[in-house]
Amino acid sequence: MSIRINREKCIGCGRCAEVCPGTLIEVEKKKAVMQYPRDCWGCVSCVKECPVGAIEFFLGADIGGNGSSMSVTTEGEILHWRIQKYNGEEKVIDVDRRNANQY
Ligand code: SF4
Ligand code: SF4
Repeated sequence: MSIRINREKCIGCGRCAEVCPGTLIEVEKKKAVMQYPRDCWGCVSCVKECPVGAIEFFLGADIGGNGSSMSVTTEGEILHWRIQKYNGEEKVIDVDRRNANQY
C-alpha cells in the first residue's frame, strides 16, 4: 500500500507530515515527499488531512482495488471521497464528519 503526492497540487502546508503516525512524509523545498512508501499501512490520515486533495491512495490488488486510486476534497464538514477506478470510471462518496462518531 502506498500513497502518491501530486507535487503540482501540493502547497507545502505540512499537515500530512504532522498526522502520519509513522512519520513517513517530510516536506522538502515546500513540497511533501513520501520517504518510506513500503512502510505505509494505508491509514489514509494524510489523504483526509490534505487541504488541496494532493494525495492519492492506491487501492491495489491486495485489497481488491486492481490499481484504482482514492483521493479526498473537503467542503466544510463534508468529505468527498473520489474513487478513480482502473477502468476510468469515477465514484464519489460523501461523508459528513459530524456523523463520524455515531456508529
Ligand atoms: S496513509 Fe497513513 S501511514 Fe501512509 S503515509 Fe499517509 S498517514 Fe502515513
Ligand atoms: S497536506 Fe497536502 S498540501 Fe499540505 S504538504 Fe501534504 S500534500 Fe502538500
